[in-house]
Amino acid sequence: MSGGVEHRGSTPAEAVLAPFRKDGGRALMLGHVHPDADVLGTLLALGLALEGRGWSVAYGGPHAAPGALGFLPGIERYGRLAEVGGPFDVAVLTDCPNPQRTEGLIDQARRAARLIVNIDHHPDNRRYADVNWLDVEAAATGEMVYELLEALGAPLTPPIATNLFTAIHTDTGSFRYSNVTARTFRTAAALVAAGAEPALVSESLYERRAPDALRWLGESLARVEVSDAGRLAWLALPAGAVPETFVESEELVNYPRSIATVRVACLFRERGGEVKVSLRGKGDVDVQRIAAQFGGGGHRSAAGCTVPGPVAAAMRAVLAAARAALAEARPGAPR
Ligand code: 5GP
Ligand code: MN
Repeated sequence: MSGGVEHRGSTPAEAVLAPFRKDGGRALMLGHVHPDADVLGTLLALGLALEGRGWSVAYGGPHAAPGALGFLPGIERYGRLAEVGGPFDVAVLTDCPNPQRTEGLIDQARRAARLIVNIDHHPDNRRYADVNWLDVEAAATGEMVYELLEALGAPLTPPIATNLFTAIHTDTGSFRYSNVTARTFRTAAALVAAGAEPALVSESLYERRAPDALRWLGESLARVEVSDAGRLAWLALPAGAVPETFVESEELVNYPRSIATVRVACLFRERGGEVKVSLRGKGDVDVQRIAAQFGGGGHRSAAGCTVPGPVAAAMRAVLAAARAALAEARPGAPR
């Protein structure tokens, strides 16, 4: 959407800071579909910081927060919104490249709020707000909101630090992916100094499985398939194969991704006649371009899309596109 202010880079410009400078106001923190820790952690961190300065803040989005993120401080404030309410001085979207990922709530927010602010690190961001702050170098939106709070002089309380630390933790695969930079560690260090507890966050994210989850994990891993001389691997879960809550609490695409030879890893999850596809690239393949062919998006090494079911048809289409991307990345390589 044109007409808005666009600012790029790691340091927020005055246009980004101005909406949050006043003491007291009303804000909406609006999340995207199937919210993850980067969107939830950043909305909560900014919202809690504003509340600390006397603002009244509403939190929510098209879907409730997953139970696995129930440890995020303030998460009880976030829920599924049928109506956004209002009026608001400002509505903030974080980690949301495409307004369609609010399932129509953005249209209500435009009517209810005087100003819409879009804070994001996705390269395919649509610049749909009045103020668009984009930093494609940021590993997570969590790094950006940290800079925002620093620039505003907002105190980093332990709940705020924990939210931002978790946002960065998950978007970097626990500080393991190629998006990690020196800045990531500097930010993480500042957040730990402010009270985020790394061991507690790791345990909350990865060591709170239900006893049955290991059985579902075994069931899932048995479905991993590898092809194209080991360069393509995927895992397909037809509807009902394993419980939805289990899939939501696991990054199952990481298992096909973990195979040494794999360049593109895919997860296919069938639900309600649609198939949610997660794509991960290692090295030379830009999986965002694969997702974009199906109306999705994301980052170079992590992207996703939703395609019509059944799962076999979704796999045929997406795996063909992945093979084409592999062939393009290394022309002449065995198919
Ligand atoms: P995940 O596979 O973990 O759901 O998503 C990985 C990345 O791809 C995230 O950055 C997410 O924002 C993006 N992504 C996943 N699904 C979609 C989608 O359907 N549309 C768009 N635009 N991005 C997606
Ligand atoms: Mn993110």
